[in-house]
Amino acid sequence: MKVTKEIFQVGGDRFSSPEDAAVYLLCFAGHAALIDAGCGYAQKRILSNIERCGVPLSAVEAILLTHCHFDHAGGAQSLKKALGCSLVAHELDSPYLENGDDEVTAAAWYGSAMMPVTPDRKLQGPRQTLSLGPRTLEAIHIPGHSPGSTAYLAESEGLRVLFGQDVHGPIHPSLRSNLRDYWNSLELLLTLEADVLCEGHYGVYRGKKAVADFIAGFLTGGRSR
Ligand SMILES: [Zn+2]
Ligand SMILES: [Zn+2]
Repeated sequence: MKVTKEIFQVGGDRFSSPEDAAVYLLCFAGHAALIDAGCGYAQKRILSNIERCGVPLSAVEAILLTHCHFDHAGGAQSLKKALGCSLVAHELDSPYLENGDDEVTAAAWYGSAMMPVTPDRKLQGPRQTLSLGPRTLEAIHIPGHSPGSTAYLAESEGLRVLFGQDVHGPIHPSLRSNLRDYWNSLELLLTLEADVLCEGHYGVYRGKKAVADFIAGFLTGGRSR
C-alpha cells in the first residue's frame, strides 16, 4: 500500500502475518529504511513486498525500531541479517532486545520467544536527526507504552508523515509502561502537527485533523486537559 510515492506499507496484518504490527518502507532517492520489522513469522512476504514496491533489497540501509515489542521487533534479528542493514533503537528499550526479554517484549503474550538482537545504533535523549540518503528523519523519544518508545517523523511530498506506531498503547506493568509518560508523549505527538499518521495496528490516518483526533482520543477520559 502506498502512503506517498516514497512511503509504503510492506508488513502487518493483511500484508504479512496477523501477528505483525505494521512495517513501513521509506525510500528517498534510492536510500531505503524500514520502520519496524514485524514478529518474524512472515519475513519472506515482507521481503517480496519491498521488491514489489520497486525497491531493491540492497537499497535498505536500516531498520528503525519504534520499540522493543515482539510484534514490531521479533523479526529484527533475522530481517537485519537478510538485508545486511543496520538496526536502530532507543537505548532505553535496547536491554530488552539484547537480552531477548520475553516478558517486557511481550513475546510471551504471543506464546513465542524473543530472538535477541543488538542495535547498531542506540538513540539517546529526546530527539535525534537521522540521515537517509540526501534527506533527514527525526527520531522522537515518546516513552510511556515502553520506556524507549520512539516515533519517527519524515517529510514526503510536502507532508509531515509521523510513524507513531503504538499510539493507542496499551499501558501495562509487565511492559514497563508509564501512564504519566504516555500522556505527556501523546501531547508531544499533537504538537508535531503531522499530516499523515502511520500507526502500528490501526492503519494510516490522513489530514491534520484526523491525525490529531486519533491521538487526542487516547487522552480523553484520562488526564483532564
Ligand atoms: Zn504493537
Ligand atoms: Zn507495543
